[in-house]
Amino acid sequence: WSQCVAVVTGSNKGIGLAIVKALRKQFQGDVYLTARDVCRGRAALESLASEGIKANFYQLDINDLQSIKTAASYFTDKYGGVDVLINNAGIAFKVADTAPFGVQAEETLKTNYFATRDMLTHFLPIIKDGGRVVNVSSFVSVRALNQCSSALQERFRSEDITEEELSGLMQTFIKEAQTGQHKQGGWPDTAYGVSKTGLTVLSMILARRLSKERPKDGILLSACCPGLVGTDMAGPKAPKSPAEGAETPVYLALLPPGATEPHGKFVSDKKVQTW
Ligand code: NDP
Repeated sequence: WSQCVAVVTGSNKGIGLAIVKALRKQFQGDVYLTARDVCRGRAALESLASEGIKANFYQLDINDLQSIKTAASYFTDKYGGVDVLINNAGIAFKVADTAPFGVQAEETLKTNYFATRDMLTHFLPIIKDGGRVVNVSSFVSVRALNQCSSALQERFRSEDITEEELSGLMQTFIKEAQTGQHKQGGWPDTAYGVSKTGLTVLSMILARRLSKERPKDGILLSACCPGLVGTDMAGPKAPKSPAEGAETPVYLALLPPGATEPHGKFVSDKKVQTW
């Protein structure tokens, strides 16, 4: 397979769409705009076409395991795997949303943590040598980490935490959020924050696993924050444009061949941040 391919989840709007645009200019290969909803995806594709930007499209709902598996097979059959994967899809309840905290916790972690984990489970094995994997987390993941009990912080910073232990802790947060006991359990009062703490820690775990299991393959995987970006999620008052928000994820996606870092880090403004 000579053709390279980049895949961006949740890229029918917001930062994901801006990442597709930037990759289209800077990445040598096909760039896939993916969306859970075919109509919204195709509309985004047309809006790019009207600017003279040609991208590819594939329907991908990260909350649907079958959709993930079908997409992984498609990219394997057509390209022999994936060169660049950007896990950008994410959700956040609005501050004014009146849904009970337990519901918000379950829904938010379902997409931002568990579904992104499912993407990684099925796509990491097909990432090609020299591939780049970028998980769009948030600076909020650091804030939520620092609001956790010292026992939880110790686990989230430890080098021996496993994916199973982490997923178990994420389940515990949901359960305790549903019974109103999460604060006693040492968790902060933010479902979105915990979901992104989980995603950042998962990125560190999987980077260590890649280094151990595929040491010669030159794959780099990190989590990052795009900054506070004016999208449907963050609202129009956020300081950065989607194009500016795309900069750090795209920087990580295009780390040159032979680069050895950042890997397994949390990156913001193109710099490794303290975890
Ligand atoms: P938007 O709400 O504008 O876009 C989110 C995208 O994710 C949409 O395309 C949405 O699709 C998609 N999505 C949601 N659920 C799924 C799913 N199950 N399967 C596939 N796609 C899905 O948000 P942003 O562009 O602002 O956010 C992008 C990422 O950046 C998120 O992970 C977010 O948490 C993170 N982030 C954003 C910040 C900001 O300031 N905006 C700050 C820090 C992090 P649909 O249109 O169908 O809903």
